[in-house]
Amino acid sequence: MPIREGKEMHRLMERLFPITRSITGEGVRQTLRILKEVVPELEIKAVKSGERCFDWVVPKEWKIDDAYLLEVETGKKVIDFKRNNLHVVNYSIGVDKTLTFDELREHLHYREDLPDAIPYVTSYYHPYWGFCLSYNQFKELNPNSTYRAVIKAKHFDGELNYGEIILKGETEDEILFSTYVCHPSLANDNLSGPVLAIYLAKWVKENLPNKRYTYRFVFIPETIGSICYISRNLEHLRKHVKAGYVLTCVGDEGDFSYLPSRYGNTLADKVALNLLNYDPLVGGKFKKYSYLDRGSDERQYCAPGVDLPVCLVMKSKFGEYKEYHTSLDNLEFVTPKGLQESFDFYRKLIKVLEHNRVYKTTVLCEPQMGRRGLYHKVSHSGRKGFVKLLMDFLAYADGTNDLVDIADILKVSAYELIEAAKILEKHNLIEIKK
Ligand code: ZN
Repeated sequence: MPIREGKEMHRLMERLFPITRSITGEGVRQTLRILKEVVPELEIKAVKSGERCFDWVVPKEWKIDDAYLLEVETGKKVIDFKRNNLHVVNYSIGVDKTLTFDELREHLHYREDLPDAIPYVTSYYHPYWGFCLSYNQFKELNPNSTYRAVIKAKHFDGELNYGEIILKGETEDEILFSTYVCHPSLANDNLSGPVLAIYLAKWVKENLPNKRYTYRFVFIPETIGSICYISRNLEHLRKHVKAGYVLTCVGDEGDFSYLPSRYGNTLADKVALNLLNYDPLVGGKFKKYSYLDRGSDERQYCAPGVDLPVCLVMKSKFGEYKEYHTSLDNLEFVTPKGLQESFDFYRKLIKVLEHNRVYKTTVLCEPQMGRRGLYHKVSHSGRKGFVKLLMDFLAYADGTNDLVDIADILKVSAYELIEAAKILEKHNLIEIKK
């Protein structure tokens, strides 16, 4: 499989990677502007600080200009935000203070189990400041020195921003893709999500001119963003979204992972599972999680009363790989190949959704395939077993099964069954019931 889009997505990630993102602020806007270069239909929206969204209030905007930790005795910067934006606890309050090592310690975060990694720590809803460093850096600090902690950051009334792309189809029924844009320099969780989302939007735009569904792509800060987005659009989403996916952790080379919607019984789950089980791209090699393992915006989309048909297909699941939420989740951990596999998966999934109709045979008993030149033509094309596939399709095209149901019964990829449906439809052997 060529990795053309995978390479382009990875290049886009290289541009986005250095930006200091958070749940609010310039980093999110800058990220959305760069994504908009790929798909100009992306609209950048704003919600004002202080606005209520269900049980939450939109937080203040965060601006950070610089941060460092200085060893007073030597005048040396021992930690410098300019070298890695993970060095500051995300959304930290501003500080300029001289402290003893013991006083400083409660503001330092490191991972003894990953001595080279800088952990990613946030403090959104509790005013706090802190630095993150590798355990190796921590061990270099002199316990007898004094330290000056400087974080040039401020919080102010501003906006929470998000991006939205709507690509209209023939019907108002919608497919939703939601991803988040709030992590700083972290690759799989989470830049792989927005990069895949924007390339899927581009692909839908360029390859599906007569699409049945309307496609909605949403780029939000995680949690508060999805809560705001749902609170603004709940009625519309409930009425129109037929299937949706949260895109995150889609760029590494690990096996696919599946996390179901709350009850795992939606169209989104059904299509995802068919491809995971039967499509050669996955070959049935995937890890199945429970909704109890949830952790991203599916928590909001699948909440009681919201009840949207949203699930996740990832590569290595958030929280389940050692690089997760550390500086090791970088541009080497995410690869063009890993991104391409996810792109190909979702491209197939979209095609299946577009062709997922309920079919019914038009003739009683088996049709005579030879008379239609079908048997002859097909067997000469060298695809053994294809006639059997057509006959099996017809056997279950009884007006109750959709394409994915039939594919599941036949234990084949629904993507690979699209061609069979097209051939049968062309020869008037099946008709679309709905
Ligand atoms: Zn995360």
